[in-house]
Amino acid sequence: MEGKIVFGPVPSRRLGQSLGINNIPPKICSYSCLYCQIGRTKNFSTERKAFYPVEKILDEVSKTLERLKEKKERIDFLTFVPDGEPTLDTNLGKEIEGLKKLTDIKIAVITNASLLWREDVRHDLKEADLVSLKADVAGNKEAWEKINRPASELDYDAILEGVKKFSAVFKGKLLTETLLVKGINDGEKDIRNTAEFLSGIKPAVAFIGIPTRPPAEKWVMPPDEEKITAAYRIFTEYGLNTELITGGVTGSFGFTGNAENDLLNIVSVHPMSTGQVEDFLKKAGGSWDIMAKLLKEKKIKEIVYLNQKYYLKNFSK
Ligand code: SF4
Repeated sequence: MEGKIVFGPVPSRRLGQSLGINNIPPKICSYSCLYCQIGRTKNFSTERKAFYPVEKILDEVSKTLERLKEKKERIDFLTFVPDGEPTLDTNLGKEIEGLKKLTDIKIAVITNASLLWREDVRHDLKEADLVSLKADVAGNKEAWEKINRPASELDYDAILEGVKKFSAVFKGKLLTETLLVKGINDGEKDIRNTAEFLSGIKPAVAFIGIPTRPPAEKWVMPPDEEKITAAYRIFTEYGLNTELITGGVTGSFGFTGNAENDLLNIVSVHPMSTGQVEDFLKKAGGSWDIMAKLLKEKKIKEIVYLNQKYYLKNFSK
């Protein structure tokens, strides 16, 4: 099982070189976002439970860090960014605590924020150094339902309240990410409502993103450029330190010693473009034959989105 929980390092605009921790089996989530790059949610859940023993996660991280140290790979963050929603893991707090004893590397959690109405989730997240919250739309429940397709038991207002409560006590770096989808949440009124809400929780950076990798629903498109520019302008009007993520991230994917395993682990949460796979294989001293084999074995699938080829893990295999 080693190598299934930890993946990367992956270059990230928000986090630099990030070693990913996949603490949720594919794909258990409380949302089924239109733009999700790992496909539609088959296992909806809003119930917290233990998925892996804490020791297993700590052990895998520790072993991977040792290998990366030998290869002189730099790591800026250990990041909980799984095949689903990381706060569904009831051991999250214990895992963060254990990682802090293991290493000085900062710890980040990328969450969809849907469980922040729960006190225990806010408590677990408080120990992270950085938390990034999904906030695609505020003040428009209908748009939230359309874009995030939440589990039916989730309460939109309770989530927004939970986000406010968390932001009031969190001492680490708080980021937000608003992903804009053409025709769903890119109208001026929605952007203003979202910006107003975000200005109340004061993130260090409010990121605005667009779908750039193959989404769960093929028809999902990024907004027109004017709309993206307008969103940026409105966010800054509300005093938000805003950054746009509208293109691929530059930087290289780390190699831990087994190119085939590394590729499989990375594409299970992070679709790679052809260029990114080529760069990775070059770094790993391998050739495209490795990818050809994984494609032939149907462990990885190829998808075209916005005229670019991407490689994703084939979860049906
Ligand atoms: S984008 Fe994140 S929150 Fe949305 S369905 Fe995918 S894993 Fe869940």
